[in-house]
Amino acid sequence: MNNVSAEFGINVFNDSVMRARLPKETYRQLQKTIKDGRHLDVNLAVVVANAMKDWAIEKGATHYTHWFQPMTGITAEKHDSFITPAGDGKVIMEFSGKELIQGEPDASSFPSGGLRATFEARGYTAWDPNSYAFIKDGVLCIPTAFCSYGGEALDKKTPLLRSMEAINRQAMRILHLFGNEDVTSVKTTVGPEQEYFLVDAAAFERRKDLIYTGRTLLGARPPKGQELNDHYFGAIKPRVQAFMTELNEELWKLGILAKTEHNEAAPAQHELAPIFSTTNISTDHNQLTMELMQKIAKRHGMVCLLHEKPFAGVNGSGKHNNWSLSTNTGTNLFEPGETPYENAQFLLLLCAVIKAVDEYQDLLRVSVASAGNDHRLGGYEAPPAIVSMFLGTELTEILEAIENDAAYGSHEKEVLKVGVHTLPRFPKDATDRNRTSPFAFTGNKFEFRMLGSSASIADANVVLNTAVAESLRQFADRLEPAEDFESALHALIKETIVAHKRIIFNGNGYEEAWIAEAGRRGLLNLRTTPDCAPCLLADKNVRLFAEHRVLSRAELESRHEVMLENYVKVLNIEALTLLEMVRRDVLPAVSGYVRSLTDAVEAKGRLGGLDATYELETARRLSELLAAAWRESGQLDAALEQARGDTLTLARHYRDRVSSAMDALRALVDEMETLTDARSWPYPSYGELLFSVN
Ligand code: ADP
Ligand code: MG
Repeated sequence: MNNVSAEFGINVFNDSVMRARLPKETYRQLQKTIKDGRHLDVNLAVVVANAMKDWAIEKGATHYTHWFQPMTGITAEKHDSFITPAGDGKVIMEFSGKELIQGEPDASSFPSGGLRATFEARGYTAWDPNSYAFIKDGVLCIPTAFCSYGGEALDKKTPLLRSMEAINRQAMRILHLFGNEDVTSVKTTVGPEQEYFLVDAAAFERRKDLIYTGRTLLGARPPKGQELNDHYFGAIKPRVQAFMTELNEELWKLGILAKTEHNEAAPAQHELAPIFSTTNISTDHNQLTMELMQKIAKRHGMVCLLHEKPFAGVNGSGKHNNWSLSTNTGTNLFEPGETPYENAQFLLLLCAVIKAVDEYQDLLRVSVASAGNDHRLGGYEAPPAIVSMFLGTELTEILEAIENDAAYGSHEKEVLKVGVHTLPRFPKDATDRNRTSPFAFTGNKFEFRMLGSSASIADANVVLNTAVAESLRQFADRLEPAEDFESALHALIKETIVAHKRIIFNGNGYEEAWIAEAGRRGLLNLRTTPDCAPCLLADKNVRLFAEHRVLSRAELESRHEVMLENYVKVLNIEALTLLEMVRRDVLPAVSGYVRSLTDAVEAKGRLGGLDATYELETARRLSELLAAAWRESGQLDAALEQARGDTLTLARHYRDRVSSAMDALRALVDEMETLTDARSWPYPSYGELLFSVN
């Protein structure tokens, strides 16, 4: 791309395009509708739709779609062309206001977790004018929310928008208390760092497990993995670089702020980070990024794996959700300020997050739970399944000084008083940046690191926004009527620290000792998705979401159901794939190889006692493994057959019985791989997959 700044956002119907193409009055009304978060008026929509269509057609579009994010976690689109018969066998291109505002996809096949049984069968999509329309592959895409006719959310976007409203409402109350008169709204911002693997397409095509499940279900460890740390930040290979260049260009055209690219820790693993933007926009953009990664990798003869754990024995992939709060006047509220007063506001907001993370640890953990991510969290490469918070030494010492009515640091003599003393700046790259913490303060934002690489970032941000909104609500309730604001503020901050400091942990989250320590502190350790899902329906959580009008009980029940259903389906597909691979490929191949070994033994015997130790011993061990694998595949079959009950019972059964049978079977097959002639093995090896791209 020659001129990035000229081409940036050329496929987006963004503010400057709207300003240029809409009549002044229409533009003004649209801005007002967006700002007030109201529904679009039909008369207004007619004009906007027409301008959008003309713009899209100039860019070569022939179709439009309502682009939405159902509870599958990915995006959905159904294309309609603009054509309308105009007599004489001719057509004209039309796009009505109604078509812009609302769509009615046949929703019956999207997961609804029982909502459709209780409510209305159909769903509809409604334009979210906060997100710009864009063109992708000749289709005008209109970002929409997806709801049932009863108004229940059937998607990931609706609760996200509601949670952004909730935190805006409560944060504004706090900001008023601190006299920020110029601020009229607060938005959360997110920059999601995205990890992924690239493997050679030809190798991928020969792995049924990758094709059906996105991860390898079999595979002996290669002689080399990531132990030399030679891949992390290493020189990028030409083929990967060509992919990254094209990806950046496509993302930029869509107005996506792709910024940083580098090799990650595991061989064949990479990362892309955008510059942050408003949370709903980041959510859309992250979905588009994942989609484009997969599409563009194919053009370069590669496949992009977004699974959380494609390979055993090397790092899996996550997504770091960098989160902050920003005012419409452009102030980052987690940037410690210059004055004591600004610092007091910063400390209060910090306390709101500490309280939220402690009180809603369970929800934060649930928001990242999936079959894929279960392989990562709790392993020794990703944040543990225990939620805790890293603040760094400096900030922790400040909180301790407030808690104990003590002086902060050696240079201060006076007792640290909120609202009176200035805090030091906390440089982002200060001393101990902790890489093992699930939730870290990184100078002017929080980095939530438990998200899986394939997940929509919506769920995690719904929880974060709502939980922090609740802290802020309680703080505002308490401070608004206070007669002496400063004393009340100081007392509140102190109390919050005392009540919630157990969530703060600055040490190494990968250490075994931390698990015991976290247990003593009463922190939760929810290891698997079936452990997590019931938390969605805990009374305190139902109350939280209801009170802030983010999710109703019925909507939570549906999400609980979808989560468990999905878990069971994923494990079931994995088990069936493994059985097919073992019975139809591995066992026949190894049996054939054993035959060639025994033939060799016989031939050597006929020649008069040539040494056949290798052939005999290998044939013997492989025969034992064949028999054991055959039996173990029967165990797996039996475990699958015994699966019954409600979704939670089923999910537990898959976790306890099915996945352990899969692990046992895999161990046998992986040993066979190390003994079998490479040419007879039916699949590309780990070595070929991880080191195939040059
Ligand atoms: P790293 O964590 O790898 O050191 P950076 O700190 O530079 O990387 O940023 C990581 C991500 O955090 C980027 O996507 C960046 O845009 C995002 N980020 C920076 N500031 C904010 C903010 N105020 N709100 C949300 N995300 C932010
Ligand atoms: Mg980071």
